[in-house]
Amino acid sequence: MTTTAATSPSPQASPPRRPASQLGRLTLRGVSRAYGAHTALHPLDLEITGGEFIALLGPSGCGKTTALNCLAGLLPLTAGEIELDGRRVDTLPPEKRGFGMVFQNYALFPHLTVRANVAFGLKMRGVAKAETERRVADVLNLVRLTEHAAKHPAQLSGGQQQRVAIARAIVTEPALVLMDEPLSNLDAALRLAMRGEIRRIHQDFGLTTVYVTHDQEEALSLADRLVVLHDGRVSQIGTPAELYEHPADPHVAAFMGYRNLLPLRASSVEGTTALAEGDGLRVVGTRAGNPAGTPVDGALSAGQQVLVAIRPEDLRVAAEGETAIGEAVAEIVEYHGRVLHVEAATDQGRRLHLKAHQPVRPGDRLHIAVDAERALVFPAEAVAS
Ligand code: ATP
Repeated sequence: MTTTAATSPSPQASPPRRPASQLGRLTLRGVSRAYGAHTALHPLDLEITGGEFIALLGPSGCGKTTALNCLAGLLPLTAGEIELDGRRVDTLPPEKRGFGMVFQNYALFPHLTVRANVAFGLKMRGVAKAETERRVADVLNLVRLTEHAAKHPAQLSGGQQQRVAIARAIVTEPALVLMDEPLSNLDAALRLAMRGEIRRIHQDFGLTTVYVTHDQEEALSLADRLVVLHDGRVSQIGTPAELYEHPADPHVAAFMGYRNLLPLRASSVEGTTALAEGDGLRVVGTRAGNPAGTPVDGALSAGQQVLVAIRPEDLRVAAEGETAIGEAVAEIVEYHGRVLHVEAATDQGRRLHLKAHQPVRPGDRLHIAVDAERALVFPAEAVAS
């Protein structure tokens, strides 16, 4: 279970400490869901340990919400089962699962005060008045809304409303909290602030959280583990560092910020190194593999089409005398503090995104370089799906 004070981003708060969430282990076994002939979620296997923060990440339509709603009980499974500490829960209606839910649109009662909104779930469960008051006060303190308790939702900012929604979801001390893009209606600054709040609340309250987002940065900064979905299938499950360093396929790579996905041809392959060429580029890269360094499935041999994934921050203007992967003309140069974001194109029209630490102007012809271990070579069939 995660501890509290040392990692809390806000030193002035002394939120109430709740007992850690009762969840020991949640197991999803072959959970799938079809809408008619369309399979929105292919069999999903996942084990969640109490206290974990799991992000379901993927582009629109990949099946994130379907997976979350299957967990919540809002959607029946087409196949598979869900167990909570060895007890089958997928056969139970949502209210019997005892999970808390936070939605994108908050879904607060407009005619009730903040305090009454948060108390609602406890009232429904017949919790005694004094106990309800104590728990509501505790949770409002935790989400830092004590002074707004008597207000109505319309009198609150978006971020405050979202905190009411979170308070309402956790006041019943659920075994699991499910959040579906809870920050997407907020502006960028508030989203960033609320991200920290959600992580803090997760830790301070000892929650187990499953969080749906299409925002890779949000997922990486919040989650202990990420589940990346693509077209209803799991592409990869892992910690942020595992996914960032060792994306399992080009879809995950794209989500992890590998903005340069270059379709090239392998001209030679030796061990874990491959030389890939095309579009005026000649890249010595490393075969994409798992954290243990084992090459990914699918043989790679000379002559094969590949996709070379490189993050903009790993692509640079070559130093004097350094071997370049090719030349490209700078087209768009954006100033971002100490670095420039440069979009350049080879004479064959292949676009490259890189970061430059030296002056670059549009029209400059650049020699581009990358370290071999920072250029991941995937067999082209790894993209097919
Ligand atoms: P978004 O980020 O846009 O919400 P998502 O990853 O949450 O997307 P889902 O809402 O889970 O995706 O949808 C997965 C797939 O299932 C999509 O192709 C979608 O069109 C389809 N789908 C979702 N709900 C239904 C439904 N009620 N009937 C038929 N198809 C559906």
